[in-house]
Amino acid sequence: MKLLEYEAKDLLKQSKVTVPEAQLVRTGAEAPSVSLPVVLKVQIPVGGRGKAGGIQPVSTAEGFEQTAKELLSKPIKGYVASTLLAEEQLEIQNEHYLSYVIDRSQQSAVLLAHRQGGVDIETTTAEDSSGLLRIPLSDRPDNEVATKLLEHYQLDDTLRNEIHDLLSSLWEAFTANDALLLEINPLVLTKDNRLLCADAKIELDDAAAFRHPDWDFEQKPQKAQFVVLDEQGDVASMANGAGLAMATVDAIKGAGATPANFLDIGGGTNTEGMVEAFKAMTEMPSVRAIVINVFAGITRCDEVAQAIVIARERFENLPPLFIRLAGTNEQQGKQILTDNNIATLSTLQECVQAATEELN
Ligand code: GDP
Ligand code: MN
Repeated sequence: MKLLEYEAKDLLKQSKVTVPEAQLVRTGAEAPSVSLPVVLKVQIPVGGRGKAGGIQPVSTAEGFEQTAKELLSKPIKGYVASTLLAEEQLEIQNEHYLSYVIDRSQQSAVLLAHRQGGVDIETTTAEDSSGLLRIPLSDRPDNEVATKLLEHYQLDDTLRNEIHDLLSSLWEAFTANDALLLEINPLVLTKDNRLLCADAKIELDDAAAFRHPDWDFEQKPQKAQFVVLDEQGDVASMANGAGLAMATVDAIKGAGATPANFLDIGGGTNTEGMVEAFKAMTEMPSVRAIVINVFAGITRCDEVAQAIVIARERFENLPPLFIRLAGTNEQQGKQILTDNNIATLSTLQECVQAATEELN
């Protein structure tokens, strides 16, 4: 689940991370209580707002009203914002890039940093990754990490403690909120030598939602459309893409079993959505086997595997699973399953056959 900038910054503030003074604006008519000049920033779930005209400096009350009205009505990158963030304008000396991200293949968190943050960082690093600092982290960053970062940013030694505190508070926010990604771009050094997180992007792990009953953000986790076909059905199924889901249901029927449901997890269903679908299957007492048929494109095998592992842990009465996993991130997905002693088969046919044998 991706958070909007203001939601991300709220979480950062809770962990004592320094962010600019700001106020939310929902209609153009409100005057800001933060002192002018401010930057008005559209709150939409995508980056690159600066280049698309979604970040506007305003310095007068009339300018504020006019710009706010405009930003709340015209689409930016395909989204019309219903919320703006009015933030104190910063006098920027340097812009740096900083992020914590979960590296699934390494099963650890990684700190990524680039001296040169700002709007062009993605293209900069794609052309030349040499400027990218990468430090695997198993725990809260210590002084050594802070020193490396300070040197990488080529900042003055007087900022060492501040960098250390920042890394530490960001780590707190990253771990306490079960984030998969926490990205600060830019991390701004102002002309009066303050370090501030001028932009923040946080992606939360949907699979951890059950630990955070208070989570309530504008973007909701996507739920899969679970369709019951037969309440007495004995084989449930999960596939990605409507075509593959239908083929799976047909194959189950063709093998002489009764398909319990139709489920297409394609089109942005996330981990928690898939876990919910497994829950729905466990709530059908007649289901005695589950066929999972994934040929991943946009869907990622590792995400499916993650959902399978969580479902197995969470639902004691989960029927036996017969899994075919292919496509995007297949190796990572299979590794996750192997690490959890969950077997896979190579074809849909094998899965369906094994599932029907389970019924006998
Ligand atoms: P993004 O384009 O969606 O990543 O939005 P950002 O919040 O990162 O803003 C993009 C760029 O706008 C930043 O890299 C800055 O260069 C600029 N910017 C953002 N906030 C301010 C500000 O308060 N003052 C100034 N002068 N520039 C800002
Ligand atoms: Mn940014």
